[in-house]
Amino acid sequence: MNIENEIGNVQLMQKINRLKVLNFIRQKGEVARPEIAKNTGLSPSSITNIVSYLLEKKLVMEVGRVDSKEVGRKATLIRFNPSAATIISVNIETSKVDAALTDLEGNILHKKEIAVGHAIKSFEILNILKKEINSLINEAEARNLPHIAGIGIAVSGLVLDDKKLVISSSLKWREFSLKEYFEDLLHIPVYLQNNSRTKALAVLKKKQGEFEKNIVFLDLTMGIGIINFYDQKINEAVIGEFGHTSVKKDGPLCFCGNRGCIEVMCSVETILNQCSELLDQGKCKILKNILEDEGLPLSYETIIKAFDEGDGDVRDVLKECGEYLGVGIANIINIFNPQRIIINGDILLTCGFIFETAVKEAGSRAYEQFTKDLKYEKVNIDSEQAIRGVSLFVAEKLFDLAGPEW
Ligand SMILES: [Zn+2]
Repeated sequence: MNIENEIGNVQLMQKINRLKVLNFIRQKGEVARPEIAKNTGLSPSSITNIVSYLLEKKLVMEVGRVDSKEVGRKATLIRFNPSAATIISVNIETSKVDAALTDLEGNILHKKEIAVGHAIKSFEILNILKKEINSLINEAEARNLPHIAGIGIAVSGLVLDDKKLVISSSLKWREFSLKEYFEDLLHIPVYLQNNSRTKALAVLKKKQGEFEKNIVFLDLTMGIGIINFYDQKINEAVIGEFGHTSVKKDGPLCFCGNRGCIEVMCSVETILNQCSELLDQGKCKILKNILEDEGLPLSYETIIKAFDEGDGDVRDVLKECGEYLGVGIANIINIFNPQRIIINGDILLTCGFIFETAVKEAGSRAYEQFTKDLKYEKVNIDSEQAIRGVSLFVAEKLFDLAGPEW
């Protein structure tokens, strides 16, 4: 082995051990040196050295003293310092972009919500992102915040991080290297992730320790994504492009190139299109009256109103959407056998009928042994939680072996 290799190995070992200690402290909240030594398997003298290094870098701080069993006297408590650096987090939703400055634990320091309308389905979104990220960089400077260590962008679609590509039905992007684009422009590390995954991270953080072993998180906000939590962690082996699994052989064409994808068969857009067609055929009488009486354009809200007032044709449309969702959920149950399904959805889930239909349909299709103790939970992840999820994802990358030197 040559000398360069040996130096390289020593530096790598140092980084591995520092991250082991730092990530243990991040996970524990407050912890004393003897407990860190016990849990990381490193010697007390190594812990002393590493903690001194982390203190010097301001990545941890001393926060008080506690009786320690391990040393038989008081030991100093160490805590992760979330203010060691700043993160820019961006979450792209159906008709808006949320962009924020946060600390390393996802606490929001400054947040903006930008309505983007039609631009969400085009490359115009890039100019909006560029403008907002630059304005956050200026804001961070004006507030004298710690350096920006990373930018996280959460998008709907398939994110292949190793190839840095985004393929997105909602954004109508076939293949685009968003990471490279912004890193070339800003010279700050950019981390991309699918926004069902970042929302899942926010859920996981919020519910820490309260979870069953095997859970499926179903995100119905932009398309349909699934995440599997196994042993309180995101199961990285599951890619989650559930929205593009087929549920109807000759169904309508999807942006992905396939036909009859579940997210084409059950979505707000499909419900709107189907009701619009029925109105043209002279059906959906109650809906028609509501639109005419109130002078309103066709919207999901008016459709739900017509359903509440007893429109049978509207009911059939919503029922079909719920049934397709139920077919999908039955498939999920038979593949994962989860103990709990957490469903996030702001719009589709406002209609209790769709959800109830889906659960009933899933129950009639999946193995009874799998459904009898299965729990369903509805959540509505708000924009602050979604931003927090993006920051948590960036922090994971920053404190990963492949991340920057601290
Ligand atoms: Zn598709």
